[in-house]
Amino acid sequence: MSGDTIIAGLTALQADGLACVVCGADYLDVRVPHLPVGRSVTGSQVFACVGCDPDARRAAGGVLR
Ligand SMILES: [Zn+2]
Repeated sequence: MSGDTIIAGLTALQADGLACVVCGADYLDVRVPHLPVGRSVTGSQVFACVGCDPDARRAAGGVLR
């Protein structure tokens, strides 16, 4: 998945990049490392916790080619 992946069906928080698109963790409440995984249908960058998204985990240095 690239950073240009469009992700649909998100909640308002997820679409604003304020919550994990995988588990829904609210980043204003939960301090967890997260990385951009794509964009919402409105063009906002959206995020997933490093532990939630395989691509995010890879980008964080878990597995590098
Ligand atoms: Zn998450």
